[in-house]
Amino acid sequence: MMNSTWVKNAISEINADYQRSADTHLIRLSLPAFPGIQLYLKDESTHPTGSLKHRLARSLFLYGLCNGWIQEGTTIIESSSGSTAVSEAYFARLLGLPFIAVMPACTAKRKIEQIEFYGGRCHFVESACEIYAASEKLARELNGHYMDQFTYAERATDWRGNNNIADSIFRQMSHEPNPVPSWVVMSAGTGGTSATIGRYIRCQGYNTQLLVVDPENSVFLDYWQHRDASLRGSVGSKIEGIGRPRVEPSFIPDVVDDMLRVPDAASVATAQWLETQLGRKVGASTGTNMWGALQLAAQMRAEGKSGSIVTLLCDSGERYLDTYYNAQWVANNIGDIAPWRREIEQLIAQ
Ligand SMILES: *Cc1c(COP(=O)(O)O)cnc(C)c1O
Repeated sequence: MMNSTWVKNAISEINADYQRSADTHLIRLSLPAFPGIQLYLKDESTHPTGSLKHRLARSLFLYGLCNGWIQEGTTIIESSSGSTAVSEAYFARLLGLPFIAVMPACTAKRKIEQIEFYGGRCHFVESACEIYAASEKLARELNGHYMDQFTYAERATDWRGNNNIADSIFRQMSHEPNPVPSWVVMSAGTGGTSATIGRYIRCQGYNTQLLVVDPENSVFLDYWQHRDASLRGSVGSKIEGIGRPRVEPSFIPDVVDDMLRVPDAASVATAQWLETQLGRKVGASTGTNMWGALQLAAQMRAEGKSGSIVTLLCDSGERYLDTYYNAQWVANNIGDIAPWRREIEQLIAQ
């Protein structure tokens, strides 16, 4: 029999935490090279745990509590490339639950420190492909609950509205010159955010298209084109947070209007370039997103169209000082980013 008093209190703890929280900013970029075209970044780096995964972690805990999967003392286990684990460790601590993150050994050091800061433990595996089986095994052995963001992200979030990220974006756009964006651009890790945005757009009847950008070593784009759900990659994505070696159940291809492959070097070059626009560093997946947004802006400009494009600032670059912001690491792991930087400079030259 479930201890319903504990569950009730746990749910009200999360709701109280939500009540104490503020919404994230929508930043407008100023790019004179694109007259009549506005670009916006929804800044998810300002959540208490530093990324858009704060929203997901809250939803996954509520989903697990309301389903009776999480009870007093339940050990929470998650497979993650880091961001989700940081946010879940925060909520596990809020509820006094033990938390274990199963992550690839190459995960950013800063994220590992943050998981441990919130009292979580890290369990490392060789490669991104091994996190799922290792998580299931741990959950069995410890009689814990495997949160499984890759399966539940799309359904734990209320896509109809209820102040989800899409609802927030469209409300914040309401006083802009082109309040209904021509495009929203997002990358996919779980695919949960693109699913929420895509469904919301349809549900509200907006004339907005959704572009999903995909890094190298990810199967999402091939899956979107050919719908072969058995696709597997052997190498993990180098852009932390996005690109998966298998087709994740939370990636919903039919709500995506278009997809674009973004070279890893272009993602890193764009992330670094964004610092010149924002005055602060962003993570590499934000570079992937912005690369896609810049391509759309250039296309709209060439076609003489005006309109707005919204994309996401997923997390801060402070987490990646020893990787994407370390020239030696970039040269060894990503390659020469200078040609991509020149391409961006050309795109935004007036
Ligand atoms: C998870 C994540 C994404 C992708 O979001 P999903 O909703 O999981 O598809 C992008 N960037 C970062 C840094 C992430 O952690």
